[in-house]
Formats: sequence, structure tokens, C-alpha cells
Amino acid sequence: MRSLIVKGGYVYDPLNGVDGERMDILISGGKVVEELDEREAKVVDASGMVVMPGGVDLHSHIAGSKINIGRVLRPEDHRKDPVPRTRLTRSGVGYSCPSTFVAGYRYAQLGYTSVMEAAMPPLGARHVHEELNDTPILDRTAFTLFGNNYFTLKYVKAGDMGMLKAFIAWLLRATRGYAVKIVNPGGVENWKWGRNVGGLDDLVYNFEVSPRQIITSLARANEELGLPHTIHLHCNNLGVPGNYETTIDTMEAVRDIKPREGRRATVHIVHCQFNALDGDNWMNVRSGAAKIARYVNAHSHVTLDIGQAIFTDTTTMTGDGPWQFRLHNLTGNKWVNSDVEMEAGAGVVPYTFRKNNPANAIQWAIGLELALLIYDPWRVYMTTDHPNGGPFTFYPKVISWLMSRKARTETMLEIHKACMRRTTLAGIYREYDFGEIATVTRAATAKALGLKDKGHLGPGADGDVSVYDIDPTDWRPSMYRQVEKAFSRAAYTIKGGEIVVKDGEVVAAPPGTTIWADVKIPEDAEEELMRDLEADFRSYYTISLANYPVQDEYLPVQERVAVDGRRGW
Ligand SMILES: [Zn+2]
Repeated sequence: MRSLIVKGGYVYDPLNGVDGERMDILISGGKVVEELDEREAKVVDASGMVVMPGGVDLHSHIAGSKINIGRVLRPEDHRKDPVPRTRLTRSGVGYSCPSTFVAGYRYAQLGYTSVMEAAMPPLGARHVHEELNDTPILDRTAFTLFGNNYFTLKYVKAGDMGMLKAFIAWLLRATRGYAVKIVNPGGVENWKWGRNVGGLDDLVYNFEVSPRQIITSLARANEELGLPHTIHLHCNNLGVPGNYETTIDTMEAVRDIKPREGRRATVHIVHCQFNALDGDNWMNVRSGAAKIARYVNAHSHVTLDIGQAIFTDTTTMTGDGPWQFRLHNLTGNKWVNSDVEMEAGAGVVPYTFRKNNPANAIQWAIGLELALLIYDPWRVYMTTDHPNGGPFTFYPKVISWLMSRKARTETMLEIHKACMRRTTLAGIYREYDFGEIATVTRAATAKALGLKDKGHLGPGADGDVSVYDIDPTDWRPSMYRQVEKAFSRAAYTIKGGEIVVKDGEVVAAPPGTTIWADVKIPEDAEEELMRDLEADFRSYYTISLANYPVQDEYLPVQERVAVDGRRGW
């Protein structure tokens, strides 16, 4: 591959302290380098444009059984947004449940080069990896579901941290997963009996453990193993008015856990917008974002992503089966609920966020309040929890709201006045600058994920770069439409040193790399675990243990992140 120079752009590289300086980015052998022979290199003229590391989305749903159920459930979604093939790209469908190829193209068109699939049921791991392989351009990881897994509950109940840690290491390897995902811990297990949990100290049937025990045990195990990312937690009581209290209780529960070396966080709270509601019911619901922000501002062990709501028709999908049933009852919309034996569950329900719906107007404001009231952009990240809050294709719109109070005000005037009365958004003047946008969309997310070669443009970083056609020296927040336009169609997206998007069009679609965490644990701990797994697999699973782990054939392009879990043993 030829080397490449991205020349003369205004570079925003927060991890290296670069904030809009004009400089060249040199790429050779797929990596950012300090020097190269300019005569040999292809030059990308970025003068007058914004240059950032490739976008890193730390929470999205783009592959596997759940999104696939969404595709099947929603023919109307496809009809709205058919995508024809070109000489280079394949046909597909878009909107809220895009087909695999379209997801890859569209993320790249926005300047994103890495995306994390946020919920992988272990038994569905092969399906996840098959679809990730069909998703071009993007590097990715998948987060394995642990919070309602039979073995997790069994070892938490026994108080056996050794077995729990061994199980985490083994299951991440077996599924080629990257991080520990927890969804409504205990609630999804109870849903098998038609129930849920209502707080951190309710009990899980048959196991007699509480969500608090599940969360703290997994968080402790996660940090002792030294995994690159913290636990990735979808809190209990999602979508329930008043749930901000549960969210703060949850953050408080993991406050005293010792983080792994080199980080301060012990938990990442996902799509917090859905878990920041104050009030007692849907009639008097109001924003709890300010209270969450106050807690996060005062404590350094929490990161979160906003899960911004977008006024559009979308498809919600989550491992939180009981919530999805509730949403079906709230809306009357068609629904799917599924149980993944021994491991997890899921639900899918189409949903439309409406401007004239007071609860939706409040939800819209909450995401932005979280992003604007939490001072430290290294701890609050931009997501829509695609497709739950809305499709990722709306990221440029979210960027315009973050960067422009005028953009927010114009939307506020169009939507239900509950937004004015029951949120603090109208009184917030903060506007993000380009450096902060680069932080919440790539630098901070890569850092939180522990992806060392991503989210920055220093020597040794992956040659993933996005160039946006907007001049930051000649830009004011009132010109938010320009920023939305520029971030919608990257002038260039460069992936591993190869130009994949030019002027908003896909010009190359190389395969991406699947990154997973390979955790080493003591041999005797692994042997003890295997004996226990074998017995229970024989008794309870419909698949034999030998057939369970994902074979390497499922990951043609992979990168193993080696973690030495023995150090904290
Ligand atoms: Zn999610």
C-alpha cells in the first residue's frame, strides 16, 4: 500500500493535545508515522478542513440475532430506504435496521472506522461474527452478555470470585468477545418467570442473588482480570420514571472497587438517557439528568454514553426482555421477545419518538443535558444506542445540537413544551467545540475501550482518519447546518491508510478487523472451571461444550488483545 499524507488540515487529536493546529498526518504501512518519503506518498489535500482520528462508536447494535429479528420484523423500514448497488458497493437496505454492508458503508461515510457491537449472546456469537464479517470497512469488537448468564449467577451465589474470573476469561475467548456486557442484571433471568427486578436489592429466583451482587462481583472480577474496558452496564429499571435513583445507586455500588492499573473508571453506564428519568409515572415524568450529572461530576469512577433520542421512526432492540414487553404494552406496537437458554434474552419493538409527545420531548432533552452538564468530555460519549434512540445516521444532527445552542433552541420550539418545563436544557448555554466533538466521538471512546491504537493520530496509531469539509477558523455555532452537512458526508475517510470514502462516497470497502480479548488465567483455575462447565453443559445445555466455542474460521481478520489475568489472581 502506498503511503499517504493528509496535508494542511486543522487537526483535532485530543489524546495528543492537538486542538485545531494545522499539521500533516503521515501514514505508512497502515499506521501513523513520524516521517516518510514525501515523493513516494499520495497526498490528500485537507487544507481548510477539519481532520480527526476515525470515529470510534462504543455502543451500537449492528450484528447478530437481535438486529436480524429487527430486519425481519420491519419490512416497512426497508421500503423506506432501499440502497441500490454501485460499481463498487452492494445493494441493501438502510434506515433503522440496515443490512450489514450498508451499515459498514454508512458509518464510513460519517467518518467512523470502528464500531462496537454492544450485545452478543454467547449462543449467538457465530451469528454476530458472521454478520460482522459482512460489515465492510469497520474494525469492531463485540461485548459478550454476562449479567443473566447461569454460570455468572451460580458463581456469584457461591461467592467464588476465582470461578467467576475464570468463567469471564473462558467465555470471552469462547465467543471472541471483548468486554463484559450486563443488561438489566437479574431482571432478564426473572423474566423467565414473568417477573423483573425493581431495584438493586431484589432477588433473582432460584439463585437468591441481587442485581447489586451481580454488578459488584462482575465489576470486581473485570478489574482484577485487568480487562481493557470496564463492565458495560445497562442498568435495572430502564425506561421507568424515577429510575435515575437506581442509576445513581448503581454507580455508588461500584464506587469502592479498585480499578485496573491505568484507569479510574470501574463502570460504563450505557445509553444513560433511558435511565435518567425523574418523577413517579409517565404523567409527571421529568428529567433526572441534572442529578446524574451532579453525581458524575463529583465522582471519577463512572463513564457513560448518552443514547440520544431522535425524533424519528426507529426499532428498539435490547437484551432487556421485560422492558421490551413493557414497551409493547405502552405502545401497542408489534413485538418479539426471545429467550436464549441459560444465558440471556432479548426483545424488539418498533418505536417512534414524536415531537408532540411530552415524554419523548423530555427524553430528547435528557441526552443533551447529560452531554452538556457533565463537564468532562472524557467521560460522556455521543451515541444514539443505534437503533434504540435513533439510527446512527443521525449523528451529524446530534453533533449540531451539541455545538449550537441555536440548533437546540430551534428544535425545542418545535416540540412539546414539557421539554421547557421539565428539563434544564433551555437554560444551558454550553456549546461543544471541535476538540470536544473529537473527544466524545473518538478519543475518549477509544480510551475508555482500551483500544490503544485508535482514537488518536500519534505515531503508531492506526491510519484511520476522517476529514470533514468545514473550516473551523471561519465557523460560528449559528452555522450549525453547515456542521451537520460536513459531518454527514466525510470529505475523506481513511481506514488503515487506504481512502475508503471520498466526497461522501464509498470508494473502497476493505474488510475490517475483529478485535477480542484473550485473557490468560492460571492453569489450575481453568481446569477446575472446565470440570464444572462440562457437568452443567451435559445436564442443561442443548449444545455440547465441545461445539460451543467459536472457531477461528469465523474471524478471518482478527486481532487478539492479550490480557494477563494472572496478575490480580
Ligand atoms: Zn444498546
